[in-house]
Amino acid sequence: MNGQAAAGNHPVDADRIWADLMDLAAITDPGRPYTRRSFSPRFLEGRAWLADRFRAAGLETRIDPAGNLIGRLEGTEPEAGTIALGSHSDTVPDGGRFDGTAGVLVALGIARTIVGQGIRLRHSLEIIDCLAEEVSEFGLSCIGSRGLAGALTPQSLDLRKPDGESLREAIARVGGDPDRIAVVARDDIRAWLELHIEQGRVLEEAGVDLGIVTSVVGITRVEIEVSGMADHAGTTPMHLRHDALVAAAGMVAEVRRLALRRIEAGGGYFVATTGELTVTPNAANVVPGKVRLLVEARGEAPDSIKVFLGELAQGTRRIAEASGVTLSSYRLLSEAPPTPFDPGLVSTLEAAASRNGVSFVRLPSGAGHDAVFFSRIAPTAMIFVPSRAGRSHCPEEWTDKQELALGALVQFDAILELDRSG
Ligand SMILES: [Zn+2]
Repeated sequence: MNGQAAAGNHPVDADRIWADLMDLAAITDPGRPYTRRSFSPRFLEGRAWLADRFRAAGLETRIDPAGNLIGRLEGTEPEAGTIALGSHSDTVPDGGRFDGTAGVLVALGIARTIVGQGIRLRHSLEIIDCLAEEVSEFGLSCIGSRGLAGALTPQSLDLRKPDGESLREAIARVGGDPDRIAVVARDDIRAWLELHIEQGRVLEEAGVDLGIVTSVVGITRVEIEVSGMADHAGTTPMHLRHDALVAAAGMVAEVRRLALRRIEAGGGYFVATTGELTVTPNAANVVPGKVRLLVEARGEAPDSIKVFLGELAQGTRRIAEASGVTLSSYRLLSEAPPTPFDPGLVSTLEAAASRNGVSFVRLPSGAGHDAVFFSRIAPTAMIFVPSRAGRSHCPEEWTDKQELALGALVQFDAILELDRSG
């Protein structure tokens, strides 16, 4: 069923959410739409604007120790805990108008509806603008949600950005209290519901209104180094070469072949990419002597990633031997497991969508989000709204007002249900 009809008697004011989105997008580094990188003057300008909007909506507004901007509506039963909504207001350089901001401003729209209709929730409601979700100048992402979940290590507070400022100093500068982060991991949050743009093409292809996100994929990165022999490209006959790049090319194709095999095996969403090649000496007249490959695999099932890694190790060894080169290094760089979301909360969102005639599919998220860190301390789920042509992290990023309206409707209805049922 198509949800277009359902938006007619919509309790959440989508025009106002849209106006907010465009107003916040206008706060951008000049000549670089849309850029509001975390900790920058422009980011702080956006935050000041946002805090004003929070207060105007009747929210009690504060910055927590980890530098998250929070607007709060006190519940009638403080011991019931907090239902939290939100996302992030920082952008990548030359990013879009919807990534992160959609979640924060839809949440604000919902809070306005709750206040405007005089709805008294048992739970307290918080709208959270998480600090620095995108990779910051410190090389770290999801700083605010890590902090809130007690996952920001003392070592990471010592990270410095290129101008020398430490993360500790930067968090204090945006109004946080770095010395208190470690002791104030939240234990009162009963649900984190994050609405976000999909940043992919699944919803558009499926022709549905929304995605209900069941998990965030695990991400594993492997560094492979292939060593052959650098020789004169003119005087070395083909049969005498040990060309590291020819071997590496075979490995790139192998990564794709093995990923397709995982998908055929039915292990759920799976993607693998060779995203970086470093060729040495990288000259037109020299047979490549050494190549470094960075391979990344993402999947929703831990087993799929494990099988892929086993097959990749075998495949690259076989290709190296057949190509007369050696695998001089094969190293697991990082391994983050998949994050399954709370099945109860996923069902609550699905029921809310069904009640309102909003069509949806279940899907995993191929990108990381603040929700990953919230899931360590609270039941967590996400709603995806469609991204036109899947474009994201670019000025062309787009989601229709109507699509945001349906996301807001489902999130609003789910909150009322959660508040009722406990
Ligand atoms: Zn985002």
